[in-house]
Amino acid sequence: MTWTDERISDLIRLWDSGHSASHIGKVLGVSKNAVIGKAHRLKLPPRPSPIRRSPGPRIPKPTPMAKRTPKAPSRPVFRATRPRHGAPACLWPIGDPGDEDFHFCGGTTVPGKPYCDEHCARAYVTRVRGDTRAA
Ligand SMILES: [Zn+2]
Repeated sequence: MTWTDERISDLIRLWDSGHSASHIGKVLGVSKNAVIGKAHRLKLPPRPSPIRRSPGPRIPKPTPMAKRTPKAPSRPVFRATRPRHGAPACLWPIGDPGDEDFHFCGGTTVPGKPYCDEHCARAYVTRVRGDTRAA
């Protein structure tokens, strides 16, 4: 087939309205490649959506996330949630339960644990020694 002026103007019109090359080919009765080749020769501008976006997943570009710290993103969440609960107090007993000044540590607990960081470490060591009376 030949590219008559009429076909060419149809091609340009369809191309400009954003139709895919294969669709234009069907309308004009030519192959998709013929449409693309002709459009290229006519120096038609590449259309924004269908052609550029069609390629499948590629290597991800650097996203805005890359600007953030690559470390665990859950950390800030922890900090944000803790104060909301009114900072749960460490329940580690200080002193002897019989003493007047007996009290609990009251430090900020490790999330999911009843004790603060320091007493968590001690709890899981000293308890093994049999110091379970206070518990
Ligand atoms: Zn404590």
